[in-house]
Amino acid sequence: MKKIIAGNWKMNGSLEEARLLLEALVERVITLHDVDVIVCPPFPHLGLAARMLKGLPLYLGAQDISAYAKGAYTGQVSGAMLLDVHCEYVLVGHSERRQYCAESDSLVAEKFLSAVRAGLRPILCMGETLEERQSHRMEEVVRQQLEAVVSLGGREVFAGAVVAYEPVWAIGTGLSATPEEVQHMHAFIRSVLVDFHPKQVRPTPILYGGSVKSDNVASLLQLPNVDGCLVGGASLVAPEFLKICERANSQ
Ligand code: PEP
Repeated sequence: MKKIIAGNWKMNGSLEEARLLLEALVERVITLHDVDVIVCPPFPHLGLAARMLKGLPLYLGAQDISAYAKGAYTGQVSGAMLLDVHCEYVLVGHSERRQYCAESDSLVAEKFLSAVRAGLRPILCMGETLEERQSHRMEEVVRQQLEAVVSLGGREVFAGAVVAYEPVWAIGTGLSATPEEVQHMHAFIRSVLVDFHPKQVRPTPILYGGSVKSDNVASLLQLPNVDGCLVGGASLVAPEFLKICERANSQ
């Protein structure tokens, strides 16, 4: 399976900066045949990105989706609207949305299902806080986050989806989880996914996210059950993001 590198731009940059970043990425990414690269710009930059990426082997993702298909939900964006601007992926349950927008496991599950119904591939972000890790509850937390989706969508709901293990304490802090911590949690997540759906033909990719940089990505990607990385800060700097993509391409 090709490794996946997804860049989450969060709420950064002007339209012109988005254009320059995409221009720099496109030129090099199209020569990398052994890695799937996804970029997730803010909503207002998706139209530009769709035009610039048209026909190119670089995927577009959104950072959020409404749980609803249409209607009186001011400020929200539906799955159909994301498809219209050629998104194939959408992040759901990013820790910043769980934390700042009070998104519960059940709302995240609704959003996941909303993406699946629209024909998008959800990237379910999950992970424990520092306090939950210090009280040894990381497995319980991650299991609950996965189970919320299964209890709404059924045991096969992760076919076609991607999951991203992102310990909250590692996001944007420069403090990546150690390879041992990542390996342990990814093996745990894999075992939960296999319990849900033992006969799944194509295993659900499991990405790691949390302070991934060009100097630690190779050691993370060589671990079993690490199928790629979700990159925040480093995805905004073209040369750094490209180095990450190049390292994934040569894994
Ligand atoms: C993220 O936003 O999902 C993320 C992992 O951020 P960073 O790479 O900056 O830690």
